[in-house]
Formats: sequence, C-alpha cells, structure tokens
Amino acid sequence: MSSDQTWKDKYFQELESAEQREEHWKAERNTLERMLVRTSLASAGQTPELDRLLDQIRSDLRKGKVEVDSWRHLQEQIDRQIALLDDMPAATASHSHNPSAAMVEGENTVSESASETGSLEPAPSVEDQSQQLRIARRVGHLLGQLLSQVSLEPDAESRARNLQKALLSSGNWDELRDGLNQVADLIVAAVTRSQREFEAFLKRLDERLESLQEHFSQQSSAQSSRQVAAETLDRNIREEIEQHIEASGDLHELKQSVTSHLESIGQAVGRFRIEETEREKVLSEQLAAMQEKMAAMEAHSEQMQGQVKKERARAITDLLTQLPNREAWQERLSFEFNRWKRYQYPLTIGVLDIDLFKRINDSYGHKAGDRVLQLVAREIKKRLRKTDFVARFGGEEFALLFPETHAENARAVLDKLRAHVSALPFHFGGEPVTITFSSGLAAFNPDDTEESVFDRADRALYLAKDNGRNCIKIG
Ligand code: GH3
Ligand code: MG
Ligand code: MG
Repeated sequence: MSSDQTWKDKYFQELESAEQREEHWKAERNTLERMLVRTSLASAGQTPELDRLLDQIRSDLRKGKVEVDSWRHLQEQIDRQIALLDDMPAATASHSHNPSAAMVEGENTVSESASETGSLEPAPSVEDQSQQLRIARRVGHLLGQLLSQVSLEPDAESRARNLQKALLSSGNWDELRDGLNQVADLIVAAVTRSQREFEAFLKRLDERLESLQEHFSQQSSAQSSRQVAAETLDRNIREEIEQHIEASGDLHELKQSVTSHLESIGQAVGRFRIEETEREKVLSEQLAAMQEKMAAMEAHSEQMQGQVKKERARAITDLLTQLPNREAWQERLSFEFNRWKRYQYPLTIGVLDIDLFKRINDSYGHKAGDRVLQLVAREIKKRLRKTDFVARFGGEEFALLFPETHAENARAVLDKLRAHVSALPFHFGGEPVTITFSSGLAAFNPDDTEESVFDRADRALYLAKDNGRNCIKIG
C-alpha cells in the first residue's frame, strides 16, 4: 500500500468513527430529550412559574434549540422554584393548574403531582403513590438503557448510576424529584461532552492536515518552484479548513470537504512526482552529457599531454643515437651547475670525441660512420652510472656530466670505457677496424661558469688529441 493510501484511509476511518459517534450521540440525546419531556409533564402542576419553566424546556426541545448556557439558567430557575416549593405549605404549593397533564405518546396520565415536603402535606393517595413510583421506575429503567449507550465523564457516570439506583429502588418522592433534576444535568453533561468531542475531533483533524502540509512544504523546499506550489496548496487548504470549521458542525459536510482536500493533496503529490521525474530525467541527461564531455575532455587532455611529452622527448633526443641532444645537454648542465653552486659537491664535465672519424666515413661510407656513432653511443650509455649524463653534442662528439665525482674518478670510469671501446671488434668491408676516442675532463672550480668549465674540458680534449689520441686528459 502506498503511503498516500495509508493516510487517506486513516482520515476516512477517523471520519467514519466520528460519524458513528455522532449517530450515537443523536440517539442518546433523543432518548434523553424524550425522557425529559415526560418527566417535565410528570412534574407539572406544582406552581404556575414552575409550569412555565417546564413549558420552556419542552418548547426548547421541540424546536431543537438546547443551548447549554440558557439551560443552565433555566435549571437554576427551576432549582429556585423547587426550593420555594419545599418551603411552601402543601396546600398552597399544589394547584390544579395542570390537573391531568397528558404523558406524551399516549402513555399513562398523572392526575396531580404532590410533594412530600412538609408534615402538613396530606399523604398522597395509594393510587398517586404507586403512579409516582411507576414513573420513577420507568425513568430509572430508561436511564439504565441510556447509560448502556452513553459514554459520560466518570463523575457524571457515577452520578447517573446513583440516580438510577434511587429511581429504581427509592420510594421517597423528594429523592425522586431531585433525581429528575439530575436527568436534566445529565443531558447538559452529555451535550457538553459531545460538543467537546466534536471540537476535539475537528482540532485533531486540522492538526493532522497541518502536519501533512508541513511535510509537503519540507519536501518542496528543495526547489523554489515547488516551494511556491506547496505554499499555495498549503494556503488554499488551510483557508478551506478554517472556513469549514467555522461554518460547519456537520460531519458529512466535513467529510466531503476533507475528501476534496485529500484529493487536491493527492493531485498535488501526483503533479510533484511527474515534475520531479521530469526534472530528474532532464538532470540525469544533462549529467550524462556532462560526464561524456568530461570523459572526452580528459581523454583529449591525456592524449595532448602524451603528445606534448612525446614531442618534448623527441625535441631533446638525438635521432641517430637516441641519446639526449645538445638542447637536453644545456638543460642538464644548468640544472647540475645550479645544484653544484648550492651544495658544492664535486662535479666533473667531460668532452669525448671519436678519433679520426672522418676516415671511417671516407673509407667505409657514411652509413658505416652512423653505425659507429650508434654503437659507441650505446656503449657509453651502458657503462655510465645512472646518475651520470651523456649527450650527443654534435657530429662525433659527446658531452658528459659526472655529478658528485672528482675529475680523477671520472677519468678512471672513462678510461675503462675507452679501453672497452678500443677493443670492440668492428668489421667494415670484411676488415677489422679499431675505433678509439679521446676525452678531456674538467672539474667545476669555485669561479667557474657553465661555459668556462666546458672550455677547459674542450681544451683538455685537444691536449689528448695532440697527445696522440685514445687517451684522456684533465683540464
Ligand atoms: P680527430 O681525431 O681529430 O677528431 O679527427 P676526425 O676525423 O674525427 O675529426 P674531423 O672533425 O676532421 O671529422 C669529423 C667528421 O665526422 C666529419 C663529419 O663528416 C663526420 N660526421 C659528423 N657527423 C656525422 C654523422 O652524423 N654521421 C657520419 N657518418 N659522419 C659524421
Ligand atoms: Mg673526431
Ligand atoms: Mg670532432
């Protein structure tokens, strides 16, 4: 069952049980009214004023205008009359104003009611006495029936029980007369209680509808458009309820009104849901489109980054030897130079040049020369430490950096390399060919710049060449 259905059902149940209560109450009230008419007729004929007041009661009951306040007043007047009656001698109290008041609906008649208030009063005849007691028993019986149907407040309930007991068992007319007065009190109590219950019901209903609307308002507050709609709904329903509660005490009318409120709430809920679904659909489409775009952008950006990286790598790599090129050398030289300036660790630079390379080209062709360049480059790369750096500086010249290495240590590394390269078994045109290189080294000194130290290494290279090649000199 949906939650809409649940609260709707709850309201309808509430309305139906209230309707049943109202039916009960009407039946009870009807019984009480009839009883009151009879007892008032039975009590008639005491004094003209009392008769007038009893007439008033019957007239109000006939017209259906039992107003609690005016009846309280009426009751007080009757009490006063009864008190006067009690003080009166029986002869004057009794009059023949209504000597044979007819009981309603053709029931038995009472010829004259008498009170037993004074010792002067003559004792009622046996016939009168039995008549009075019959009336009292009848009223007691009716009261018993009534109590099985009516729900009174505990206080009124116990009073009613005592009264019933008295009416059924007592033979004392004074007691019975008081009892009849109490019947009037009971009617007032029942009417008051019913009115209070009805008012409480309306109030409860109003509170529930109010909390329901609050719920809508909260649900709607996320969207301003929904907020406006919820407020309008709230206002409309509230106004209708208020008008209704002011204007009507009729449960049937209230039921119709509440039904229409629930309908309109239901429709509003329906509209909200459709709009919400629509909004969610649009939002999720937008979200999906955005996610798609984002993914495409990310992919594109990654692709671009990859491309930039590749291009950058290409830009700083020598195509033939796959070693870093001269531009990469400059970058690395600046980096290491700055580190050296800052930390002052030993740093050695080397320049390496293949000996008599021109002859290789000339003797075995340019391709053979290229191949020599590639093989020598590979061997240098392979034999240097990871922290060392080598770049093809140009032609058959290579530049090297040995961080945290003194010139002498660098020379030892290079010398090993030199011996290794010179021992490589090159063959061109079926002839074994020996390849050697010469190298100049220079360590960074306190006043050195990138250029000055390079120049010193270059000069050392020329010294090595001058020294007969295939050797290493420190500048
Ligand atoms: P030295 O021992 O004095 O250095 O003599 P060398 O012949 O090596 O020196 P020189 O500077 O006279 O010749 C260098 C030659 O290297 C000239 C040039 O044709 C050749 N060369 C430069 N770059 C390349 C290249 O990329 N491929 C080939 N195959 N040859 C190159
Ligand atoms: Mg050379
Ligand atoms: Mg050269």
